[in-house]
Amino acid sequence: MQLEDILDLVKEITESTVREESSIIDREARWPEKSMRLFQAERLMGMVVPKESGGLGQGLYALAKSCEIIGEASGSTALCFGMHHVASAVIAAKATPQQKKEFLEPIAAGEHLTTLALSEPGTGAHFYFPQTQLLSVDDDAYIVNGAKTFVTNGGQADSYVISTMGVEPTASTHEFSCVVVDKDAEGLTWGQPWQGIGMRGNSSRSLQLQGVTLPASRLLGARNDQMWYVFQVVAPFFLTAMSGTYLGIAQAAFNEVKQHLLQRSYHHSGDSLSQVALIQHRMGTLWAKIERTRRLIYHAAQQGDQGDPEAVLAILSAKAEVAHCCVDVVNEAMTLAGGIAYRENSRLEMLLRDARASHVMAPTTDILYTWLGRAILEQPILDS
Ligand SMILES: Cc1cc2nc3c(=O)[nH]c(=O)nc-3n(C[C@H](O)[C@H](O)[C@H](O)COP(=O)(O)OP(=O)(O)OC[C@H]3O[C@@H](n4cnc5c(N)ncnc54)[C@H](O)[C@@H]3O)c2cc1C
Repeated sequence: MQLEDILDLVKEITESTVREESSIIDREARWPEKSMRLFQAERLMGMVVPKESGGLGQGLYALAKSCEIIGEASGSTALCFGMHHVASAVIAAKATPQQKKEFLEPIAAGEHLTTLALSEPGTGAHFYFPQTQLLSVDDDAYIVNGAKTFVTNGGQADSYVISTMGVEPTASTHEFSCVVVDKDAEGLTWGQPWQGIGMRGNSSRSLQLQGVTLPASRLLGARNDQMWYVFQVVAPFFLTAMSGTYLGIAQAAFNEVKQHLLQRSYHHSGDSLSQVALIQHRMGTLWAKIERTRRLIYHAAQQGDQGDPEAVLAILSAKAEVAHCCVDVVNEAMTLAGGIAYRENSRLEMLLRDARASHVMAPTTDILYTWLGRAILEQPILDS
């Protein structure tokens, strides 16, 4: 499939299923089963899996556009969709022949969902400093002990990409590893679903790992080279997926308020709100804010796909900028749509709750701007 066909299919599923499922998964904090299974059945979950493993061989740009389309209908569904692709990209980056067979081929065939479990209670937004331990039993096996929080697709995915401390006791905090754990591995205990105020349909769960034994083949890449993964794979794919998602939410709020302004007219004057000069000005400002953010996101994703060394700056700033754009646009839309929107269960109310997650999903907005500044000032990006 060419990119255009892929995006047409994403649009078709979004219109037939994602939009319909959107409010119910939010209301009941339920994982978007119907939409996710349809994406799998239509082979879209292999979007970033290389063609040699049966995937669609796409990159950041396809992911940004897909998440934008889905996010316009449902932020939660775009988040679940996006996290699967980020984890797929992490597995694909240095996959061994066995990992290709065990994970990438089933993912491409729509038979396997995966997701990323990096965040931990002890290190919070600093997901790149895991405390989960990876102990080497012998040359053939590892044992994993630790705890993860906010795992999107928690309990629903077939496998979990987990970050751990470096294997050797001498490994520094910057030398950590990544492994893939099966959903039914012995020693996994899921916590109660997290009741977020927004993004409620993402099945976010905490996870305890106690004495989880893994074959050595589950290590991704070389021991302790996770920092390579953080900047070469996790950051670009995660930030791009989230940028697309929150852009979709901003666009949804814009569409909602536009519809409202076109329809709302006063009995006393017969005038429509669309005729008010101040409101026209504010809508123009919102459009420009969304469009310049969209251009940044597309540009960053394309630079990333081309392997441009400058791409990292654009990708970091894209997610920081879209968080501001999304929260501002939804807030403004709420004001412009007046008391009619300011009620329980209005679409804008859901968008307002979903938009707020943009700033707190790591790397958070403040941390992204700090990383950017450090990169510009030629300082090490990470704090020690
Ligand atoms: C909807 C949702 C889905 C998620 N899905 C996943 C997932 O699938 N996988 C996963 O691994 N994680 C996931 N997360 C977790 C997320 O990425 C963060 O790790 C988590 O939200 C951090 O929360 P915390 O309360 O521990 O933050 P804290 O670490 O307590 O941070 C609180 C605030 O302090 C700020 N702060 C902390 N340190 C600094 C600093 N040095 N400079 C500037 N500001 C700083 C942060 O930016 C943040 O705003 C998800 C979170 C949400 C909300």
